[in-house]
Amino acid sequence: MIGTTVKDVASHDSVVPEETLDPADWEEFRELAHAMVDRMIDYQRDVPGTPAWRPVPEEVDERFREPAPKAGVGAGGAYEDYLEMVFPYPTGLHHPRWWGWAGGTGSPMGMMAALLGAGSNSVPANFNDGAARVEAQLLTWMKSVMGFPEQGSGIVTSGGSVANIVALTVARDAMARSDIANDGVGAEPERLVLYASSEVHSSVFKASKILGLGRDAVRLVPVDGDFRIRIPELREHIARDLVAGFRPFAVIGTAGTINTGAVDDLTALADLAESYGLWFHVDGAFGAMAVLSPESRHLVEGMSRADSLAFDFHKWMYVNYEAGCVLFQDAEAHRRSFSVGGDYLVPLERGTGSLADMATGRGPQLSRGFKALKSWMTIREHGFDKFGRLVAQNMRQTRYLASLIDASSVLQRVAPVELNVVAFRYEDSETDAAVADGINRELLMRVQERGVAIPSSTLLDGRFTLRACICNHRSRQSDFDEFVAEAELTVAEILSESAAER
Ligand SMILES: *Cc1c(COP(=O)(O)O)cnc(C)c1O
Repeated sequence: MIGTTVKDVASHDSVVPEETLDPADWEEFRELAHAMVDRMIDYQRDVPGTPAWRPVPEEVDERFREPAPKAGVGAGGAYEDYLEMVFPYPTGLHHPRWWGWAGGTGSPMGMMAALLGAGSNSVPANFNDGAARVEAQLLTWMKSVMGFPEQGSGIVTSGGSVANIVALTVARDAMARSDIANDGVGAEPERLVLYASSEVHSSVFKASKILGLGRDAVRLVPVDGDFRIRIPELREHIARDLVAGFRPFAVIGTAGTINTGAVDDLTALADLAESYGLWFHVDGAFGAMAVLSPESRHLVEGMSRADSLAFDFHKWMYVNYEAGCVLFQDAEAHRRSFSVGGDYLVPLERGTGSLADMATGRGPQLSRGFKALKSWMTIREHGFDKFGRLVAQNMRQTRYLASLIDASSVLQRVAPVELNVVAFRYEDSETDAAVADGINRELLMRVQERGVAIPSSTLLDGRFTLRACICNHRSRQSDFDEFVAEAELTVAEILSESAAER
């Protein structure tokens, strides 16, 4: 028996008017919604003529400290707030001169697909619906594109970080000696360790921490002059760990390192993993897309031999954020790690909850946004060949930017160009390293602040380095000319300021 009687509830309901979040006037809302769509289409059409970035002014920042609203301002009011507080200050990812981190550019169809996905509020989880089929088909396409078997498995994730967590969870569970998924990492007789190059992405450390393996479980192997993992040192490290009583369980190859776009020798890593009986994971967050172009496919040879492969749609396939993915050769191993049951989730024979292949059994989330639709519709719109041509275009542009830097007397390239990343900095023989680092920091901040372009930074050999990673279908050759010219002027300006100070 429950406490409140039905009669009490009924009399209560009769005095309180029922509410909804739907508009009182649908036509008025339609007009507002159309204005929003028009605004975003204009924005995307006109973005090449706008600054690449602008800081949020103090008076706008102040408004973000307003207290939680008890009463609403209505749809029009909320949209006004957005236009004043948010719209003028995008991250900059749509811009033709966004080359920061490994950020992808989005597309008009990606935007509309996000609206369609949100419009139906579909949840690809355990439901028998269109959304589940879209995701399943997207995974089938990606398996075929990446050279994975059709009976393999996968899941659409928020991004590469979660894809790496999902992959390494499955690797850990599959490779452990104990029933680690049940008994926990403490049940393991030896400490589990995995291997990657010193250029591995930081999300792998996060994954290792979350999985209870600890950050130190990620054994970092030095790289060669091309920033690729050194295979002989990898073998030595494994041998040392075995002698010391650790349990090597996985090796990670990176297809496209964040610092320089280097691709590890994936064939050699696949062979090595096979001979040592290790799980082979490839982090191909952006670099996996090299497979799409016949011109670059050879660079990621061996990738299809990975036990698991992580990549992003939102980087080098330009799909609007967020959309990542992880694929597995062994569907059973994948499901063993994430299927935990739940009486409320057992599929029925028919009806809404009748999907056997539930996404909740393939990843950490139950409720999920309909992210797959953005990738599915963008791919349907353009076809994979177009993405292959865009990848090739970005690689040509990368080599062009590298050639401009090589021709510059002010900027120097500091890493080989393999995929779509150029690493460079201001350097001259008379300036010592610390001073040059300061000049390069200032250079980067000024080109961003002035809205010229958005490269980002890293440390290479301990030195502050600028890097451009081109996952951008809007960049044109002239954008690179303009950027290098502006960067050279900016360096001259910084040098003359510091000369005046002395
Ligand atoms: C970006 C990136 C990640 C993380 O992916 P997110 O989508 O940002 O979570 C992992 N590995 C590499 C090599 C990356 O470039």
